[in-house]
Amino acid sequence: MSQSHAPHDPHCIFCKIVQGQIPSTRVLETEHAVALLDIHPVNPGHVLIVTRDHHAHLADVPDSLAAHAASLLPRLCRAIRAATGADGLNVIVNNGRAAGQTIDHVHWHIIPRFDDDSVNWPWPQGQYVGDELAQLQARIATELESDAVGEEG
Ligand code: 5GP
Ligand code: ZN
Repeated sequence: MSQSHAPHDPHCIFCKIVQGQIPSTRVLETEHAVALLDIHPVNPGHVLIVTRDHHAHLADVPDSLAAHAASLLPRLCRAIRAATGADGLNVIVNNGRAAGQTIDHVHWHIIPRFDDDSVNWPWPQGQYVGDELAQLQARIATELESDAVGEEG
């Protein structure tokens, strides 16, 4: 996993956590990521997968690190579901303030959900009008074509 910038930000709370400078309650550790209990859980058993290296957003993460973090999800989901008795799980990555990100160090939320919980979900959803759907498909496809695949992140 190549690293083209400083792996840690001295002002970042999650960098301090993965380095052990701030305590955390860990459930799984690998060479590249730490899974720990969120200190303010949406529901009990709410876990965060935090990369050991500092990357603010998912868009900044090297493909191999994103793949590694995602590879931990099925096992963590099974363990959290079994340990909490959850009826379901939400897996979410918030990117940017507009999306609710408060700590600019990439992390995956795994949130246990219960049939009768009071969590405000689902989000309201809209619909496309006219050729908006096709236009967005074309714009995203163009962006993907110009974006190199690999470890540049
Ligand atoms: P975000 O809003 O950035 O997607 O999520 C940040 C999460 O980190 C929040 O759910 C918040 O409760 C959690 N959090 C903030 N500070 C700490 C901390 O010091 N320790 C732990 N374990 N979680 C934290
Ligand atoms: Zn950080």
